[in-house]
Amino acid sequence: MASTGPPQSLKRSDSSLTRVGDQPIITPLGAGNEVGRSCVYMSYKGKTILIDCGIHRAYSGMAALPNFNEIDPSTIDVLLVTHFHLDHAASLPYFLEKTTFNGQVFMTHAMKAIYKLLLSDYVKVSIVSVEDMLYDEQDILRSMDKIEVIDFHQTLEVNGIQFWCYTTGHVLSAAMFMVDIAGV
Ligand SMILES: [Zn+2]
Repeated sequence: MASTGPPQSLKRSDSSLTRVGDQPIITPLGAGNEVGRSCVYMSYKGKTILIDCGIHRAYSGMAALPNFNEIDPSTIDVLLVTHFHLDHAASLPYFLEKTTFNGQVFMTHAMKAIYKLLLSDYVKVSIVSVEDMLYDEQDILRSMDKIEVIDFHQTLEVNGIQFWCYTTGHVLSAAMFMVDIAGV
């Protein structure tokens, strides 16, 4: 008689991924059902990662930010930024300068250079009221001191989280990240 259990491949992934209290959590804080404010929270085995830190161009002030109130920024180990477009990077000065985040943040060398130019320009051309200003040019300059750089195909490790990146072709300096936590 044929077995009625799940196929072997399913059993394997069950045992490696779904032990109680040991499940990977992936939560979009923005861009989950919209275009804009890309920001994805990932947690696995007590390690936490944020990927991208964008703003939503259709909103202004705090409403343009990802839902940072869903997380405790001080618990994020690593923040990885894929590219400089505003919907992926423009809440970074806010997150680095105005929240309790004290983890490490990485992007490619070229992206860091373009980020500074693009966001400085963005602050200058934004016509918003003082209370809707999320950050100013000084915040951008201060954030530059906190941003670390990664080379394509270089593997880095922070607190047991290994990561490396590949070129994407989307824009100059854009990267897609591979993240490895405990072999997953
Ligand atoms: Zn883009």
